[in-house]
Amino acid sequence: MHAKDEIRIRKLDMAIPVLLWLFLIICCLSFLFYMIRKNEIENNYDYYSAAKQNQFTVKSQIEGDIHLLNTIAAGFRGMDSEHARQLPEIIDRMNLSKEGMKIEYTRKLDWSRLDREDTYLTVMIRGEKNQPLGYLYAGNARDMLNQMLNTQTLAGVGICAVLDNKGYFIAANGNRDAIYWNSIRNKTYDMITNHQQTSSELDFTKNKHDYTVLIPLEYNDWYLLNVFPKSGLQGIHMEMAVGIGIMILISSGLFFVFFYKQYRTITANQKTLVNIAYTDSLTRSRNFHSFKKEAVRILRTADLKRYAVWYCDIKKFKFINDVLGYEEGDRILIEIAGLLQKCSGQNSLFCRVSADNFAGLYQYESRTELQNCFQKLIEDFRQKELSYNKRIATELCMGVYFLEEEDRNVSIDNIVNRANIAQKYTKNLPGNQFGIYNKEMRDKVVDESELESEMEGAIKRQEFRIFIQPKVSIQKNNEIVGGEVLVRWENPRRGTILPGQFISIMERDEKIILLDRYMFEKSCQWLHQYLKSGRKPINLAVNVSKVGILRDDFVDYYGSIKEKYEIPDGVMELEFTETVMLTDDTVFNGLVARLHEKGFICSLDDFGAGYSSLNLLKNLTIDIVKLDIMFFRKSNDIRRERIVISNIIRMAKELQIKTIAEGVEYTETVDFLRTAGCDIVQGYVFARPMPVESFEKLLKETVTLVPQDEYKAVNT
Ligand code: C2E
Ligand code: MG
Ligand code: MG
Repeated sequence: MHAKDEIRIRKLDMAIPVLLWLFLIICCLSFLFYMIRKNEIENNYDYYSAAKQNQFTVKSQIEGDIHLLNTIAAGFRGMDSEHARQLPEIIDRMNLSKEGMKIEYTRKLDWSRLDREDTYLTVMIRGEKNQPLGYLYAGNARDMLNQMLNTQTLAGVGICAVLDNKGYFIAANGNRDAIYWNSIRNKTYDMITNHQQTSSELDFTKNKHDYTVLIPLEYNDWYLLNVFPKSGLQGIHMEMAVGIGIMILISSGLFFVFFYKQYRTITANQKTLVNIAYTDSLTRSRNFHSFKKEAVRILRTADLKRYAVWYCDIKKFKFINDVLGYEEGDRILIEIAGLLQKCSGQNSLFCRVSADNFAGLYQYESRTELQNCFQKLIEDFRQKELSYNKRIATELCMGVYFLEEEDRNVSIDNIVNRANIAQKYTKNLPGNQFGIYNKEMRDKVVDESELESEMEGAIKRQEFRIFIQPKVSIQKNNEIVGGEVLVRWENPRRGTILPGQFISIMERDEKIILLDRYMFEKSCQWLHQYLKSGRKPINLAVNVSKVGILRDDFVDYYGSIKEKYEIPDGVMELEFTETVMLTDDTVFNGLVARLHEKGFICSLDDFGAGYSSLNLLKNLTIDIVKLDIMFFRKSNDIRRERIVISNIIRMAKELQIKTIAEGVEYTETVDFLRTAGCDIVQGYVFARPMPVESFEKLLKETVTLVPQDEYKAVNT
């Protein structure tokens, strides 16, 4: 899904390894060619040296032969013409005694009979008075030259030939004849005229890789042609090149396999990372980050008047987690995410912001659509939950902000925050709630946030004060039998703040536990002083938030403080709100039993305010039930109301549970309650909550209180 869109492997990331690979290949090939070239140069140098050596050998041999002829001719020097006639005979005899050179004598060199090339070994004989007597020459000169060129030293490798300065053939090794040599004369002649000593292009042996060296023989204006077949070395080079090529191919193959694998791994890792970065791990929906990104994208070009942002919260979710366990909590979150997914149409999206908070963007035709969607969500969720047979009715609360064109430049965080404000605002109202953002909400939420930030410091600075509202026994002459400890926040800036304004805020993040324990200790402190001054014990009820009782050290803590201030048993009362019914009965009754052991009285506060059931009275082992103020608000049908109240009182009595009526404001109600058998009344009809000092003063001054309709506060 959205993760896919995010995978963009940068082209550069891909190109870098390929470029590196190309670079490597180019380096390898360059090195290979460099080596081949270097080898070739070295070989050519060797060939040239070999040719030079050949030239030296041939030249030395010819010079040797000339020297021999000269030595013989010197023997005939000064001979007269008479004796000269015997020369052919003498030479014949010499030839018989000697192998190799066949020496001939001629009176005159006859060029028509002798080829100039055949008589290259020719010397003159000078007779009397240095007159020419004739010539000595090697009759087998050409054969001798051929033989010499055929010797192992010269013909060991390739071709060795002697050419004249026009490129004509004189002698050569091998069996190529003059016709052959003359057929390629134009090539050799070119080399001679161009003074070109080496060539790789001449093709003598039908081998493309011949290397030719043509150097002057330095005798007779002749040239020595050497042709070296390079095939052997070239073959090695080729094999080397092929070998290296194969290695490059194999390594390239391996590189690409490795590269592909890496690419796959990187892509997969990136997918996983994107998933982690953009998906909520529990519900598999978008996370907030991804939501914001996508919402910004959609809204950029959208008609804002058709969009709303919502923020949804599960009420009491922390409590669900605490009581039913995290697994159940997770299951609920997954269910809700599934239902929200169904509600999201095209161009609508949602995400889990955190914990039990979801947010979404909704495209609508009419504004009522979203509320209908919310109703459907609640209904579907209720159906699902019924199948789980749960004891907690999960309630949802949704805040909505309808976008306007002027929100175009407002950040998505701010927009979501507005929906969140609407959600927070409606959250404290009972049941499932749907609220639409307005400015009044914003002010309240800002105000609450301000208060919230001050709370912890306020506890430390002891800004919370104890007020006590007297409890009057209407069955015993309206005698003051105790009081309920109620907190008041003396805020230096805002004056006295009532608990209704801050208790629910404190309950959100467990600051309430700090406050409850503080109030309890302060109450014990006061009672300790009071009893020390010789007064008889008086019942004092302290409120305990539902969050507090879930703490493991709850009973131990309250027990230890009670002990610390030497409070006698049966005096301190702890009030639990009816939400304790959400916990397991047996767990709660276990707590009550332990509190009883430690000498506490336990009462159930606000009975009738929310989801009270008469079953509670039957199941909970409490000592007192406090009827909620709601019972005593003026109602349309007072007769029916009184029937309900009397029966609750009667039933409680039968169960040996005392009844306290809270919030009673009229004497008439007091009369009714007395007849109905209610034990105690706590209400403005007798006294308002008052500072602890005033309560102490009241106790000193009077034992009973007189109810009055025109109630007046003793001190508020
Ligand atoms: P509650 O425990 O049910 O206390 C009774 C509330 O009813 C008190 O409100 C009291 O002032 C009010 N009340 C009593 N008689 C009358 C009457 O005749 N008419 C009217 N209109 N009201 C009457 P208060 O003091 O504002 O406290 C509100 C709630 O705040 C308390 O309800 C209790 O739930 C909570 N609360 C107060 N102090 C503490 C505390 O220290 N810890 C905790 N956890 N909650 C506290
Ligand atoms: Mg109370
Ligand atoms: Mg109450």
